[in-house]
Amino acid sequence: MHLGNLLCSLLAWLSARSAGGRVVLRIEDLDAMRCPRTFADLLEQDLSWLGLDWDEGGSKGGPHGPYYQSERSEIYNSYYQRLVERGLVYPCFCSRGQLHAASAPHRSDGQVVYPGTCRNLTARQVAEAAKRRPPAWRLRLPEDLTLSFTDGHMGPVTENLPADCGDFVLRRADGVFAYQLAVVVDDALMGVTQVVRGGDLLSSTPRQLWLHQLLDLPAPTFCHLPLLLAPDGRRLSKRDGDQSLENLQARFTPEQIIGKLAYAAGLRPTPDPVRAADLVADFSWDKVPRQDICLPDGLF
Ligand SMILES: [Zn+2]
Repeated sequence: MHLGNLLCSLLAWLSARSAGGRVVLRIEDLDAMRCPRTFADLLEQDLSWLGLDWDEGGSKGGPHGPYYQSERSEIYNSYYQRLVERGLVYPCFCSRGQLHAASAPHRSDGQVVYPGTCRNLTARQVAEAAKRRPPAWRLRLPEDLTLSFTDGHMGPVTENLPADCGDFVLRRADGVFAYQLAVVVDDALMGVTQVVRGGDLLSSTPRQLWLHQLLDLPAPTFCHLPLLLAPDGRRLSKRDGDQSLENLQARFTPEQIIGKLAYAAGLRPTPDPVRAADLVADFSWDKVPRQDICLPDGLF
Protein backbone atom coordinates (compact mmCIF):
# COMPACT_ATOMS: atom_id res chain seq x y z
CA MET A 1 0.00 0.00 0.00
CA HIS A 2 1.12 3.55 -0.63
CA LEU A 3 -0.10 6.64 1.19
CA GLY A 4 -3.10 7.15 -1.11
CA ASN A 5 -4.39 3.66 -0.30
CA LEU A 6 -3.69 4.25 3.38
CA LEU A 7 -5.69 7.47 3.43
CA CYS A 8 -8.56 5.75 1.63
CA SER A 9 -8.51 2.86 4.11
CA LEU A 10 -8.45 5.25 7.06
CA LEU A 11 -11.34 7.39 5.80
CA ALA A 12 -13.45 4.37 4.83
CA TRP A 13 -12.90 2.94 8.30
CA LEU A 14 -13.66 6.24 10.07
CA SER A 15 -16.75 6.86 7.96
CA ALA A 16 -18.15 3.43 8.85
CA ARG A 17 -17.16 3.46 12.52
CA SER A 18 -18.38 7.01 13.16
CA ALA A 19 -21.79 6.04 11.77
CA GLY A 20 -21.92 2.86 13.87
CA GLY A 21 -21.49 0.77 10.73
CA ARG A 22 -19.72 -2.48 10.02
CA VAL A 23 -16.57 -2.75 7.93
CA VAL A 24 -16.34 -5.34 5.16
CA LEU A 25 -12.95 -6.33 3.78
CA ARG A 26 -13.41 -7.42 0.18
CA ILE A 27 -10.35 -8.57 -1.74
CA GLU A 28 -10.61 -7.28 -5.31
CA ASP A 29 -8.42 -9.87 -7.00
CA LEU A 30 -10.49 -10.36 -10.16
CA ASP A 31 -7.30 -10.73 -12.12
CA ALA A 32 -6.06 -13.63 -9.99
CA MET A 33 -2.89 -14.00 -12.04
CA ARG A 34 -1.78 -10.51 -11.08
CA CYS A 35 -3.05 -10.68 -7.49
CA PRO A 36 -1.61 -13.68 -5.66
CA ARG A 37 -3.10 -14.39 -2.25
CA THR A 38 0.11 -13.28 -0.55
CA PHE A 39 -0.80 -9.67 -1.51
CA ALA A 40 -4.14 -9.98 0.25
CA ASP A 41 -2.51 -11.50 3.32
CA LEU A 42 -0.02 -8.62 3.46
CA LEU A 43 -2.85 -6.13 3.15
CA GLU A 44 -4.56 -7.69 6.16
CA GLN A 45 -1.36 -7.46 8.18
CA ASP A 46 -0.94 -3.81 7.24
CA LEU A 47 -4.52 -2.87 8.15
CA SER A 48 -4.24 -4.67 11.47
CA TRP A 49 -0.92 -2.96 12.22
CA LEU A 50 -2.57 0.43 11.61
CA GLY A 51 -5.46 -0.41 13.94
CA LEU A 52 -8.05 -0.57 11.15
CA ASP A 53 -10.09 -3.64 12.02
CA TRP A 54 -12.96 -5.17 10.07
CA ASP A 55 -16.06 -7.13 11.00
CA GLU A 56 -16.21 -9.56 8.12
CA GLY A 57 -14.29 -10.46 5.01
CA GLY A 58 -10.83 -11.38 3.90
CA SER A 59 -9.45 -14.46 5.60
CA LYS A 60 -11.76 -13.79 8.56
CA GLY A 61 -14.79 -14.84 6.48
CA GLY A 62 -18.37 -14.08 7.45
CA PRO A 63 -21.98 -14.49 6.34
CA HIS A 64 -21.57 -12.97 2.87
CA GLY A 65 -18.52 -14.84 1.64
CA PRO A 66 -16.49 -15.69 -0.22
CA TYR A 67 -14.85 -12.27 0.08
CA TYR A 68 -12.22 -12.87 -2.60
CA GLN A 69 -13.52 -11.79 -5.99
CA SER A 70 -11.42 -14.51 -7.61
CA GLU A 71 -13.74 -17.04 -5.91
CA ARG A 72 -16.99 -15.39 -7.00
CA SER A 73 -17.00 -15.98 -10.78
CA GLU A 74 -20.09 -18.22 -10.67
CA ILE A 75 -22.02 -15.56 -8.79
CA TYR A 76 -21.02 -12.89 -11.32
CA ASN A 77 -21.93 -15.23 -14.14
CA SER A 78 -25.47 -15.76 -12.87
CA TYR A 79 -26.11 -12.00 -12.99
CA TYR A 80 -24.25 -11.62 -16.28
CA GLN A 81 -26.51 -14.27 -17.82
CA ARG A 82 -29.60 -12.24 -16.89
CA LEU A 83 -28.27 -9.45 -19.07
CA VAL A 84 -27.39 -11.90 -21.85
CA GLU A 85 -30.91 -13.32 -21.77
CA ARG A 86 -32.35 -9.84 -22.22
CA GLY A 87 -30.23 -9.29 -25.34
CA LEU A 88 -28.18 -6.57 -23.66
CA VAL A 89 -24.74 -8.09 -24.21
CA TYR A 90 -22.85 -8.30 -27.50
CA PRO A 91 -19.36 -9.39 -28.57
CA CYS A 92 -16.71 -6.78 -29.38
CA PHE A 93 -13.72 -7.74 -31.51
CA CYS A 94 -11.95 -4.38 -31.46
CA SER A 95 -8.25 -4.46 -30.68
CA ARG A 96 -6.72 -2.09 -28.17
CA GLY A 97 -5.17 -0.20 -31.07
CA GLN A 98 -8.53 0.24 -32.79
CA LEU A 99 -10.09 1.51 -29.58
CA HIS A 100 -7.38 4.09 -29.12
CA ALA A 101 -7.42 5.21 -32.75
CA ALA A 102 -7.08 8.96 -33.01
CA SER A 103 -10.61 9.35 -34.37
CA ALA A 104 -12.25 7.95 -31.24
CA PRO A 105 -13.37 10.63 -28.78
CA HIS A 106 -11.64 10.61 -25.41
CA ARG A 107 -13.09 11.55 -22.06
CA SER A 108 -11.51 14.13 -19.83
CA ASP A 109 -10.04 11.31 -17.72
CA GLY A 110 -8.29 9.82 -20.74
CA GLN A 111 -10.61 6.86 -21.20
CA VAL A 112 -11.89 6.12 -24.68
CA VAL A 113 -15.58 6.50 -25.50
CA TYR A 114 -16.57 3.30 -27.28
CA PRO A 115 -17.99 4.30 -30.67
CA GLY A 116 -20.21 1.21 -31.01
CA THR A 117 -18.16 -0.39 -33.77
CA CYS A 118 -19.36 -3.94 -33.05
CA ARG A 119 -22.87 -3.05 -31.92
CA ASN A 120 -24.73 -4.28 -34.98
CA LEU A 121 -22.60 -7.07 -36.41
CA THR A 122 -24.57 -9.80 -38.19
CA ALA A 123 -24.36 -13.39 -36.96
CA ARG A 124 -22.15 -14.12 -39.96
CA GLN A 125 -19.77 -11.26 -39.18
CA VAL A 126 -19.54 -12.44 -35.58
CA ALA A 127 -18.74 -15.99 -36.68
CA GLU A 128 -16.03 -14.74 -39.03
CA ALA A 129 -14.44 -12.42 -36.47
CA ALA A 130 -14.51 -15.10 -33.77
CA LYS A 131 -12.17 -17.23 -35.90
CA ARG A 132 -9.50 -14.56 -35.53
CA ARG A 133 -9.80 -13.58 -31.86
CA PRO A 134 -12.01 -14.16 -28.83
CA PRO A 135 -14.31 -11.19 -28.18
CA ALA A 136 -14.85 -9.05 -25.12
CA TRP A 137 -18.51 -8.66 -24.15
CA ARG A 138 -20.15 -5.25 -23.90
CA LEU A 139 -23.37 -3.93 -22.40
CA ARG A 140 -25.73 -2.36 -24.92
CA LEU A 141 -26.83 1.04 -23.59
CA PRO A 142 -30.05 2.82 -24.56
CA GLU A 143 -29.64 5.58 -27.17
CA ASP A 144 -30.01 8.25 -24.52
CA LEU A 145 -29.36 7.71 -20.83
CA THR A 146 -28.48 10.38 -18.31
CA LEU A 147 -27.64 9.28 -14.77
CA SER A 148 -27.37 11.62 -11.81
CA PHE A 149 -26.44 10.97 -8.21
CA THR A 150 -25.17 12.91 -5.24
CA ASP A 151 -21.75 11.83 -4.06
CA GLY A 152 -21.49 11.94 -0.28
CA HIS A 153 -18.33 14.02 -0.52
CA MET A 154 -18.03 15.47 -4.02
CA GLY A 155 -21.68 16.51 -4.44
CA PRO A 156 -23.91 16.19 -7.52
CA VAL A 157 -22.62 14.20 -10.50
CA THR A 158 -24.36 13.82 -13.86
CA GLU A 159 -23.25 11.77 -16.82
CA ASN A 160 -24.76 10.90 -20.17
CA LEU A 161 -23.57 7.32 -20.42
CA PRO A 162 -23.81 6.79 -24.21
CA ALA A 163 -22.05 10.09 -24.94
CA ASP A 164 -19.52 10.08 -22.09
CA CYS A 165 -18.66 6.39 -21.96
CA GLY A 166 -20.43 4.27 -24.57
CA ASP A 167 -21.23 0.57 -24.35
CA PHE A 168 -18.83 -0.75 -21.72
CA VAL A 169 -17.16 -4.11 -21.18
CA LEU A 170 -18.80 -6.59 -18.78
CA ARG A 171 -16.52 -9.51 -19.50
CA ARG A 172 -13.04 -9.52 -20.94
CA ALA A 173 -11.92 -11.70 -23.81
CA ASP A 174 -10.11 -13.97 -21.32
CA GLY A 175 -13.38 -14.56 -19.43
CA VAL A 176 -12.62 -12.34 -16.43
CA PHE A 177 -15.64 -10.27 -15.37
CA ALA A 178 -15.22 -6.51 -15.36
CA TYR A 179 -14.77 -4.56 -12.16
CA GLN A 180 -18.03 -2.69 -12.93
CA LEU A 181 -20.14 -5.83 -12.83
CA ALA A 182 -18.31 -7.47 -9.94
CA VAL A 183 -18.59 -4.57 -7.50
CA VAL A 184 -22.27 -4.02 -8.28
CA VAL A 185 -23.09 -7.64 -7.50
CA ASP A 186 -20.77 -7.73 -4.47
CA ASP A 187 -22.02 -4.51 -2.89
CA ALA A 188 -25.62 -5.67 -3.18
CA LEU A 189 -25.05 -9.24 -1.95
CA MET A 190 -22.71 -8.18 0.85
CA GLY A 191 -25.16 -5.59 2.14
CA VAL A 192 -22.74 -2.71 1.55
CA THR A 193 -24.53 0.61 2.09
CA GLN A 194 -21.58 2.99 1.74
CA VAL A 195 -18.57 2.86 -0.56
CA VAL A 196 -15.54 5.07 0.16
CA ARG A 197 -12.91 5.08 -2.58
CA GLY A 198 -10.51 7.20 -4.58
CA GLY A 199 -11.78 10.02 -6.76
CA ASP A 200 -10.30 8.29 -9.81
CA LEU A 201 -13.32 5.96 -9.63
CA LEU A 202 -15.92 8.74 -9.54
CA SER A 203 -16.42 8.58 -13.30
CA SER A 204 -17.14 4.85 -13.20
CA THR A 205 -20.00 5.26 -10.73
CA PRO A 206 -22.74 6.04 -13.30
CA ARG A 207 -21.94 2.75 -15.05
CA GLN A 208 -22.36 0.89 -11.79
CA LEU A 209 -25.62 2.67 -10.98
CA TRP A 210 -27.00 1.67 -14.37
CA LEU A 211 -26.11 -1.97 -13.67
CA HIS A 212 -27.79 -1.70 -10.26
CA GLN A 213 -30.95 -0.57 -12.05
CA LEU A 214 -30.81 -3.24 -14.76
CA LEU A 215 -30.21 -6.03 -12.25
CA ASP A 216 -32.69 -4.63 -9.74
CA LEU A 217 -30.05 -4.60 -7.00
CA PRO A 218 -29.93 -1.98 -4.23
CA ALA A 219 -27.18 0.62 -4.75
CA PRO A 220 -24.93 1.92 -1.99
CA THR A 221 -24.13 5.58 -1.42
CA PHE A 222 -20.68 6.74 -2.50
CA CYS A 223 -18.01 9.01 -1.02
CA HIS A 224 -15.13 9.71 -3.38
CA LEU A 225 -11.88 11.08 -2.01
CA PRO A 226 -9.62 13.77 -3.38
CA LEU A 227 -6.30 12.54 -4.75
CA LEU A 228 -3.27 12.58 -2.49
CA LEU A 229 -0.34 14.26 -4.26
CA ALA A 230 3.38 14.28 -3.56
CA PRO A 231 4.76 17.56 -2.12
CA ASP A 232 5.76 18.67 -5.64
CA GLY A 233 2.22 18.14 -6.92
CA ARG A 234 2.83 14.87 -8.75
CA ARG A 235 0.42 12.00 -8.38
CA LEU A 236 1.70 9.41 -5.89
CA SER A 237 2.57 6.16 -7.54
CA LYS A 238 4.31 2.91 -6.84
CA ARG A 239 7.54 4.63 -7.88
CA ASP A 240 7.38 6.67 -4.70
CA GLY A 241 8.98 3.81 -2.84
CA ASP A 242 9.66 5.86 0.27
CA GLN A 243 5.92 6.43 0.58
CA SER A 244 5.07 2.73 0.65
CA LEU A 245 3.88 1.35 3.95
CA GLU A 246 6.74 -1.12 4.05
CA ASN A 247 9.25 1.73 4.17
CA LEU A 248 7.12 3.90 6.45
CA GLN A 249 6.89 1.04 8.94
CA ALA A 250 10.66 1.13 9.33
CA ARG A 251 10.56 4.80 10.33
CA PHE A 252 7.26 5.38 12.12
CA THR A 253 4.81 3.83 14.56
CA PRO A 254 1.19 3.24 13.46
CA GLU A 255 0.11 6.21 15.60
CA GLN A 256 2.64 8.48 13.89
CA ILE A 257 1.45 7.48 10.42
CA ILE A 258 -2.24 7.82 11.34
CA GLY A 259 -1.54 11.22 12.94
CA LYS A 260 0.25 12.54 9.86
CA LEU A 261 -2.47 11.26 7.51
CA ALA A 262 -5.22 12.71 9.69
CA TYR A 263 -3.44 16.06 9.62
CA ALA A 264 -3.01 15.97 5.83
CA ALA A 265 -6.71 15.12 5.43
CA GLY A 266 -7.86 18.02 7.57
CA LEU A 267 -9.05 15.89 10.48
CA ARG A 268 -6.62 17.35 13.02
CA PRO A 269 -4.82 20.69 13.40
CA THR A 270 -1.42 19.09 14.09
CA PRO A 271 0.37 15.93 12.89
CA ASP A 272 0.83 14.50 16.40
CA PRO A 273 0.59 10.72 16.84
CA VAL A 274 -2.93 9.37 17.40
CA ARG A 275 -4.71 6.04 17.29
CA ALA A 276 -7.30 5.56 14.53
CA ALA A 277 -9.86 4.69 17.19
CA ASP A 278 -9.35 8.10 18.82
CA LEU A 279 -10.40 9.85 15.59
CA VAL A 280 -13.85 8.25 15.40
CA ALA A 281 -15.73 10.58 17.73
CA ASP A 282 -14.75 13.78 15.89
CA PHE A 283 -14.82 12.46 12.34
CA SER A 284 -16.77 14.46 9.78
CA TRP A 285 -16.63 14.47 5.98
CA ASP A 286 -16.96 18.25 6.17
CA LYS A 287 -13.36 18.47 7.39
CA VAL A 288 -11.94 16.57 4.40
CA PRO A 289 -10.99 18.77 1.41
CA ARG A 290 -12.67 18.23 -1.94
CA GLN A 291 -9.66 19.44 -3.90
CA ASP A 292 -6.59 17.25 -4.35
CA ILE A 293 -4.49 17.08 -1.17
CA CYS A 294 -0.84 17.99 -1.59
CA LEU A 295 1.28 16.35 1.13
CA PRO A 296 3.19 19.00 3.09
CA ASP A 297 6.92 18.81 2.42
CA GLY A 298 8.73 16.85 5.11
CA LEU A 299 5.58 15.36 6.68
CA PHE A 300 6.70 11.82 5.84
ZN1 LIG B 1 -15.78 -3.46 -30.92
